[in-house]
Amino acid sequence: MNSKTSDPTVPLAPHERLRGWGGMSAPGREIRSEDLRAVTEGAVLSRGLGRSYGDASLPPPGVTEVVGTSLADRMLAFDPATGVLRAEAGLSLAALARAFLPQGWFTPVSTGTWFVTLGGMVASDVHGKNHHVAGTIGRHLRSLVVRLPSGEIVTCSRDQHPELFFACQGGMGLFGHILEVELALEKIPSPWVWQESYQCPDLDSLLDTLEASASWPMTACWIDTLATGGSFGRGLAMRGRWAERREAPPRMPAPGLSPTVPFDAPSWTLNDLSMKAFNFVWYHKQLREAAIGPVTPHAWFTPLDAVKHWSRAYGKRGFTQHQAVIPREAGRDKVRGFLEILSRRGGTGFLCVVKDCGPQGEGLLSFPRPGTSVALDLPVNDGIQDLIDELNRYVIDVGGRIYLTKDGYTRREHFEAMEAERLPAFHAARDRWDPERRLRSAMSVRLFGDPVGPATTTGAGR
Ligand SMILES: Cc1cc2nc3c(=O)[nH]c(=O)nc-3n(C[C@H](O)[C@H](O)[C@H](O)COP(=O)(O)OP(=O)(O)OC[C@H]3O[C@@H](n4cnc5c(N)ncnc54)[C@H](O)[C@@H]3O)c2cc1C
Repeated sequence: MNSKTSDPTVPLAPHERLRGWGGMSAPGREIRSEDLRAVTEGAVLSRGLGRSYGDASLPPPGVTEVVGTSLADRMLAFDPATGVLRAEAGLSLAALARAFLPQGWFTPVSTGTWFVTLGGMVASDVHGKNHHVAGTIGRHLRSLVVRLPSGEIVTCSRDQHPELFFACQGGMGLFGHILEVELALEKIPSPWVWQESYQCPDLDSLLDTLEASASWPMTACWIDTLATGGSFGRGLAMRGRWAERREAPPRMPAPGLSPTVPFDAPSWTLNDLSMKAFNFVWYHKQLREAAIGPVTPHAWFTPLDAVKHWSRAYGKRGFTQHQAVIPREAGRDKVRGFLEILSRRGGTGFLCVVKDCGPQGEGLLSFPRPGTSVALDLPVNDGIQDLIDELNRYVIDVGGRIYLTKDGYTRREHFEAMEAERLPAFHAARDRWDPERRLRSAMSVRLFGDPVGPATTTGAGR
């Protein structure tokens, strides 16, 4: 039962490093077990499938072991009358989809990859293409079982320890190790999605289409960041809803062979020309101005999962994602201004995804708030820190905020400026649940000034 895959008494070999999805890494290894209760005792951090882009799931300097939850992936109970699923925190969304889509159920909030765990989804309080109507995953949680920094194991919910329940949502693993998650699934008419996708020749038509689609349950846009002049901001605006049975094709296609990027691409493969070619093909991938009809849930939710290890296309230095929300009240011009920073600096990336965000979640640092979310994939190069700084100064000026689970480069002073209103409550909650800062990550050292090295009893480093 207790199948630890690594012996913590064995010193770390030089090659043993843990990685974030974008390639940021730190010396360390995962201690994995089917028994999360046993393995989280005294641990500094839990991580799921490492799909956070930067340093959120990396250990703080001086700590070499974190818990990897992916072996603890059992579904413990499901009530077909209410749709409530109780599962271990290491259950992946891919496994959940495999088990429940054919039965007419799915998670009410899906991320753009299914290689994430329930624990990771809660810790980032994730949102999907339906945020404007469904909110974050936190809205659909019933309860969590959590190992506190003190070692105690408690159940929390809206009625039991509600402060802890909300702190864990978007708490980036700093309030406790999530052991079990109870989540209300959504009943769906078929596993297919009815999609309408429109080519929009410029930014205004793209944002108009997004606004006009607000009554649709799921929306998102992809922008060609390399188009300039009259085509600036051109892209595809997509809206979708679960397809009714009568609209759904009779059979799901069998999964094909996934192409894979076998090793880190050489740095010269990623240049303006290859990016332009990619963006051109993506924009024209639908040959008509509008493509309407049923698509598979993979095509709708997780098109990137089709290529294994796609992040390797960015080469050895990797990439990062900057995702910010520009508040609705700042106005559309501020979205344009944000994208103009990128085109002025010649920033290139494969992906720029724009989403509509609804009301803020209940997590203390939950990311979305009413406005437009812009996510930019950016290759890491010598100018990356300058670019992130400039984007962040802009976000501060317009009253927006960034998404921690995508971040690896934001400076502490910038984060404090963005989150001046919410940070005092976040720090107060940590003082209450973890005054000695036993739970930490590389991110919490960078952004919250947490102490480095093994857990101590000397108190916080703030
Ligand atoms: C291609 C791609 C598309 C994405 N699309 C979206 C999207 O549409 N919407 C969105 O919101 N996010 C999106 N993400 C981000 C992703 O959903 C989050 O980073 C998520 O947290 C990753 O889950 P994970 O299990 O890999 O967690 P990890 O990356 O391993 O960890 C993320 C954080 O969660 C904490 N954590 C993990 N497990 C536990 C646990 N059991 N207990 C306590 N803390 C824990 C870690 O300490 C860390 O702080 C995307 C990421 C990728 C790579």
